[in-house]
Amino acid sequence: MAQIFFAGDERSVPVNTIYCIGRNYAEHAGELNNPIPQSPIVFIKPATTIIHSGEFIELPRASSEVHHEVEVVALVGKPGKHIAPEAALEHLAGYGIGIDVTARDVQEKAKQKSHPWAVAKGFDTFAPVSSFVKAERVGDPGNLDFQLLVNGETRQAGNTRDMLFPIAELIAYLSSIFTLLPGDLLFTGTPKGVSRLHEGDKLRAILGDNLVALEVEVRKERYGH
Ligand code: ZN
Repeated sequence: MAQIFFAGDERSVPVNTIYCIGRNYAEHAGELNNPIPQSPIVFIKPATTIIHSGEFIELPRASSEVHHEVEVVALVGKPGKHIAPEAALEHLAGYGIGIDVTARDVQEKAKQKSHPWAVAKGFDTFAPVSSFVKAERVGDPGNLDFQLLVNGETRQAGNTRDMLFPIAELIAYLSSIFTLLPGDLLFTGTPKGVSRLHEGDKLRAILGDNLVALEVEVRKERYGH
């Protein structure tokens, strides 16, 4: 079963539901010619998407255009329903950095047909995550730099202050629909700069001033096992 690990700590937490937010940065919505949403766009990935540093994003045969989306990821530590925005951050146990890997060609076809994104976002290995830093060590989750380097070059850089819906509002909104549970993850949306991954790419995603980092590589999916 997928686990989340804390940096510098023996504890691990089993992953429950993986919530993700689409189009939470205006410049990224713009680069894909999408309108800015009036309320958060929510989708869910299966737990089999989770991988950790040292593992591989696997490019599936079903796609010829797999993109990286670097995102700050929040970990729920305390259950709740109908959580007020002012109380929302108290429900979070930690923060990490992750990549919402997306089969863009599959997603474009789904969007054209008004179909859901579950397939485009849900292949095995499509949610690499770092170890997590405890929430109490993060001063202000509303002002966190983060970036993604591919083969040593910066491809995406953002700050959580540019979110259309800040983390506290996302938690309040999700909890108005779903009972949030310990082990739930929230991928909070990607800034501009998404682009295609290729076999052999080496990815390094960094949260804050090296609070935590994620290092994964890209290979083709292996069949017959
Ligand atoms: Zn995303």
